[in-house]
Amino acid sequence: MNAPSERPACALPRHATRQVRVGRVLIGSEAPVVVQSMTNTDTADVLATAMQVAELARAGSELVRITVNNDAAARAVPHIRDRLLALNVDVPLVGDFHYNGHRLLADYPACAEALAKLRINPGNVGAGAKRDPQFAAIVEMACRYDKPVRIGVNWGSLDQAVLARIMDANGKRAVPLDAGAVMREALVVSALESAAKAEEYGLPGDRIILSAKVSSVQDLIAVYRELARRSDYPLHLGLTEAGMGSKGIVASTAALAVLLQEGIGDTIRISLTPEPGGSRTQEVVVAQEILQTMGLRAFTPMVTACPGCGRTTSTFFQELAGGIQSYVREQMPVWREQYDGVENMTLAVMGCVVNGPGESKHANIGISLPGTGETPAAPVFVDGVKTVTLRGDNIAAEFKAIVDDYVATKYTKKTS
Ligand code: SF4
Repeated sequence: MNAPSERPACALPRHATRQVRVGRVLIGSEAPVVVQSMTNTDTADVLATAMQVAELARAGSELVRITVNNDAAARAVPHIRDRLLALNVDVPLVGDFHYNGHRLLADYPACAEALAKLRINPGNVGAGAKRDPQFAAIVEMACRYDKPVRIGVNWGSLDQAVLARIMDANGKRAVPLDAGAVMREALVVSALESAAKAEEYGLPGDRIILSAKVSSVQDLIAVYRELARRSDYPLHLGLTEAGMGSKGIVASTAALAVLLQEGIGDTIRISLTPEPGGSRTQEVVVAQEILQTMGLRAFTPMVTACPGCGRTTSTFFQELAGGIQSYVREQMPVWREQYDGVENMTLAVMGCVVNGPGESKHANIGISLPGTGETPAAPVFVDGVKTVTLRGDNIAAEFKAIVDDYVATKYTKKTS
């Protein structure tokens, strides 16, 4: 008999040996890869930002970054945090600072206090002679308020002084590197030198996370392999400006899957451009699905469904698969509170007898729907054993009831 597939998270060896605490979340070393996201509201709008942070946190974002770009935003941060706590949402907030971060953190200590982490981009802290003192001032604030820092370089705002130095050195090489390799090296050097400076200014090494984002898959893989080879800080992964729809999802997945499989990456964000009117939470769902389909973490029961072919002309199995995936995702906030391990449950919805019974037996609960010309009956398998055959117009509701019953009886109830 086929064993039903409980799929506990697999533990790939991670590159980062250091571990950083961000509020109640641990990042790096043995900690699970953390999902994060970022708001796109005006941070000065306390209500809109708090509501979007809450939405992202409820979707599963374990850290949420908000931009802190001016006085009004800095003033709003502690109120956003308080409103979230009133909503019973205790997600660590990360402040994203550019250009004026040193001044905002000095002028608004309540903002610094309310944030769980500061993100600074060494290419955007200040130009020329202002760069180092302004970077030092932000690090000093992080030390004063016991906050970790993500040093996040980005190829769109690469530190020009570092780039010029790497280009000069490259010009003196017997065989100069091409422009892409110079840019990648400048990104890595900017991140590593900034981390070294932050430590010099007094920030402990176990309060530093690095990122170096680019928008090309191959560049991202190359840059992060190099960062991992040359440091042991936890790394935040993400393809910057990934784009919209399937392109953004595919490009992010292609890059992150390679790196995560190599043990590189301790926290991830999927930088999707939302469709007009689309939900910001899609980036959280995609991040979770990358980690879950790779077997690194489990968040929500997964539905296996066949693609359909000429053996089934009905769209019913597609509707059932989509409906069941939505149903379990909707139920998860409640199930997660009530049952241990329910996120590991697997479901299968199959279109005909060719692979239907076999695939269904591999899942905790599977249903094999009738293909064209087959007897109008849908056998259901629970933990590899056929338990019932559904017929008629009520198959979707009856299958959901079987799923509910399985969850209530199979998974241990949490004690409050
Ligand atoms: S299970 Fe049946 S309907 Fe689905 S893809 Fe395979 S042969 Fe086609």
